[in-house]
Amino acid sequence: MDYWSKHYIPTLKESPAEAEIDSHKLLLRAGLVRKIGSGIYAFLPLGAKALENVKRLCCEEMNRAGAMELLMPAVVPAEYWKAGPRWNAAREIMYQVASAGEKAEFPEEPAFVLGPTHEEIVTPLIGGEATSYRDMGKTFYQVQTKFRNEIRPRYGLMRAREFIMKDGYSFDATDEEATETYKRMAAAYEKFFARCGLKFISVEADTGVMGGAFSHEFMVPAEVGDDDVVYNLESGYAANVEKATSGIVPADLEEAAPVGEIEKFDTPGVKTIEKLAQEFGIPAEQQYKTLLFVGDDKLFAVVVRGCDQVEEAKLGALGYALIRPATVDEIFEAMGAYPGSLGVVKGTIKNREKLDGVYADNAIRLVGNGVTGANEKAMHLRNVNVSRDLDIDKFGDFRKVQVGEPCPVSGKPLEIQRAIEVGHIFKLGTKYSDNEEYGALYVDKDGNRQPAVMGCYGIGISRTLQSIIEQKHDKNGIVWPWSVAPYQVIITVLDPGMDEADTLALQLGRAAEAAGASVLVDDREERPGVKFKDADLIGIPLRVTIGGRGLKNGEVEMKWRDQEDVMKVAIADAERVLV
Ligand code: ATP
Ligand code: MG
Ligand code: MG
Ligand code: MG
Repeated sequence: MDYWSKHYIPTLKESPAEAEIDSHKLLLRAGLVRKIGSGIYAFLPLGAKALENVKRLCCEEMNRAGAMELLMPAVVPAEYWKAGPRWNAAREIMYQVASAGEKAEFPEEPAFVLGPTHEEIVTPLIGGEATSYRDMGKTFYQVQTKFRNEIRPRYGLMRAREFIMKDGYSFDATDEEATETYKRMAAAYEKFFARCGLKFISVEADTGVMGGAFSHEFMVPAEVGDDDVVYNLESGYAANVEKATSGIVPADLEEAAPVGEIEKFDTPGVKTIEKLAQEFGIPAEQQYKTLLFVGDDKLFAVVVRGCDQVEEAKLGALGYALIRPATVDEIFEAMGAYPGSLGVVKGTIKNREKLDGVYADNAIRLVGNGVTGANEKAMHLRNVNVSRDLDIDKFGDFRKVQVGEPCPVSGKPLEIQRAIEVGHIFKLGTKYSDNEEYGALYVDKDGNRQPAVMGCYGIGISRTLQSIIEQKHDKNGIVWPWSVAPYQVIITVLDPGMDEADTLALQLGRAAEAAGASVLVDDREERPGVKFKDADLIGIPLRVTIGGRGLKNGEVEMKWRDQEDVMKVAIADAERVLV
């Protein structure tokens, strides 16, 4: 039982100017977090408690699904990333650290990076020792601070530069087993988000372009989200709209997206999308959904897979793939370099026949994958979110899925909903594991070396926390679900110092604690109005009010935060009610 007078809960009457959306305002006003720098926050005691609750729920569901908690370092020797497949592409998003004590300017070759995600670490960590088929069928997870150099941090914890993520990684012997693990994780995600009291939808984030790989995002419907979800309730179809959004950035890229970075490539013999589409027999209505450029003997493919965010574009295969010619297989590999990544590949076509086959088949299957940029002038627009940063209406070349368009499953009209991505799971296949030096190879029953089939599973713990507030608040403040609330019961003592009131507060508080609730006693010397307002603002689910007049009548008041009615309860019954 904690007492407000001894606690630190700095509530604010007004929203600080830095906050634009309700949940961000409430995070600040309820004294949960404070801003330290752009996209960098400190959690105050109440915020830390709520965060811990979200984390605990997540860990419980992970453990129940058979995953094991471990903890990897956040500061990672750069060698790990250099050995992996996306060093060049990922550098831009990573905070890079010179060796301690060095006075170097921004280091050309950093000694360490701050981890934005941990595939590059977990693969050699586990792969180095899990070398038998008996070691397969394992899933690991951690809850850790992640660092991403978001170009436009915003909305408080929603898009931060330092944030808390639960990231998990699975290693299986076979593709089928990996799919089973993936399904088990998806089910655990559903349980977790439901326990957080969230309304959410899980959406297809990828249709399986890469052999055996696929992905789902967990989306919280909210107008302030950065993603759009298309769905049809009847058929149950739901997808990230980026899968169905696409466009060719017109020549005037700068005007189109002032926040983007324009890259120019030397791509001789590039063909227009129409010509290309003709060549591959892609129907007119799908032309803008797949963008491939083919030079005479060069291939230049731009495929953006769910490239909805600035840093995803950065994490893409761009740097990696452009540095050398690639085979068709490598191209597809590179395109899947990162969940929801931008893949840009330029390479010599070694097996044209195979390529045609692959594309004829995949071109259509790539339909879902939005294309942010590239045009026949061989320019490519990076780091742009189509719906957020581009004024689509101004540029007719963009084609966005419209409300009412037929659902690919049922043919019924699609609806569109803005949403926040709170979780993302991805069946990786053997992308990271299939490498002798840093990968994860095991010896199967017949003595053959095989790459582990991997999956990765992310949840934005701090973003989930704020999404709960975004979905659960009213004009007076936060309306915490019981499961996440920093305290579940607040006992508001109107006349602190009055023996009878203090004793009853203690007694009821103990009863509530015995029943498993966490209790905050508001014992401050403040007017009742101030106390009620604060209790509403910080959103404690159940308020018990002890007042002098009530005591005389042998009563206390009880009120649920999400209900209007105030119940008068006989003191003798109050304990029973709490239990
Ligand atoms: P976004 O599309 O919003 O940029 P992401 O696709 O880059 O997110 P993932 O790499 O899939 O993110 O990471 C897993 C989860 O981590 C996301 O689903 C999200 O909940 C969370 N997350 C990612 N970036 C941030 C961030 N900058 N601030 C807070 N949470 C984040
Ligand atoms: Mg995303
Ligand atoms: Mg991102
Ligand atoms: Mg994602």
